Amino acid sequence: MKQILTKEERDDYMKGLDAEQKDFIQNHVRRGKKTTFANFMAKDKGIVLPEDTDSEEIEHLLEEWVLEDYIDNGYVNAETPCECGRPLRYQYVVKHNRTKEQRTFGITHFEEHTGLPAEIVKDIKSGFQKIDYEMDDLLVKLHQGWSLNESLPNIPEDYTFPKDIQKHLDVNVPLLDRQIHRLRHVGEEIPRREVTEEIKEETIPASQSFYEAQEPDPINLFSEEEMPAPKNEKDLQMYVLAPKYRDAVIGYLEDGVTSARVICELLIKNNSAPKGRYTYSERPKIYVSVCFYLDLLVSRGQATHIGSLNLDDRYYKLT
Ligand SMILES: [Zn+2]
Repeated sequence: MKQILTKEERDDYMKGLDAEQKDFIQNHVRRGKKTTFANFMAKDKGIVLPEDTDSEEIEHLLEEWVLEDYIDNGYVNAETPCECGRPLRYQYVVKHNRTKEQRTFGITHFEEHTGLPAEIVKDIKSGFQKIDYEMDDLLVKLHQGWSLNESLPNIPEDYTFPKDIQKHLDVNVPLLDRQIHRLRHVGEEIPRREVTEEIKEETIPASQSFYEAQEPDPINLFSEEEMPAPKNEKDLQMYVLAPKYRDAVIGYLEDGVTSARVICELLIKNNSAPKGRYTYSERPKIYVSVCFYLDLLVSRGQATHIGSLNLDDRYYKLT
């Protein structure tokens, strides 16, 4: 059972940290809450994105409320009230993307002051709580003198950590359990079968089922003239993004969207791209052809990859 801290313990553990660690943890909580909020607002619209998608990316998809800020004032302060005048320590600031209206409230009056449906508020609140528990996890580990070597003894010395993990190590903040979990096989020789099988299933569907699933709108996605030399025509067709979506993709990159997943959702929302999703991962089916088109831009020198390529999402920017 994870240790959950009281407010007093949190404050107490926080006091023992250096400025950089304190800053890192507060930022982690702030970013985590913004991302949670944006993810649930998107989910309400049927949009499913990887959990770690940045809130700024998701906000390109949201026309309504986004979490602008989360502030810990350090103590219950009359200068930082809820919409109703009640003094607050922890302040949530939301902004309406279309009307630019801004609201400030404490967690207990979240529903009352935003008018969001109770169900979404409930989900967001439990998401926020998860972030607070992550903070507790970090504080407890710091308090107990956590060390990377003890937690993950098999990591080779020259190992290159994923960026998010390296950021923790740079400021001497312990890793979250889910990060430790990701590294658990590093230094062991284990074939990564799950991943390769998922790639097979989702990016090279040799079976007919993909086309059957696309039935209502099979032609639009693929362009006849750009089809590569057909060894297996049907397999190759799905890699090609229809010309009518290409300008839109470039437009989104120009707007500063970098996530291929978010670009897919924008194409579905604004450009009537096919809505089909894979059942298990809930990735849009156009994801494959969008990535192929983005990779084509990279090979032409018009765009570059940001960060590592993985199956869940890929990031690009124009050059
Ligand atoms: Zn209030």
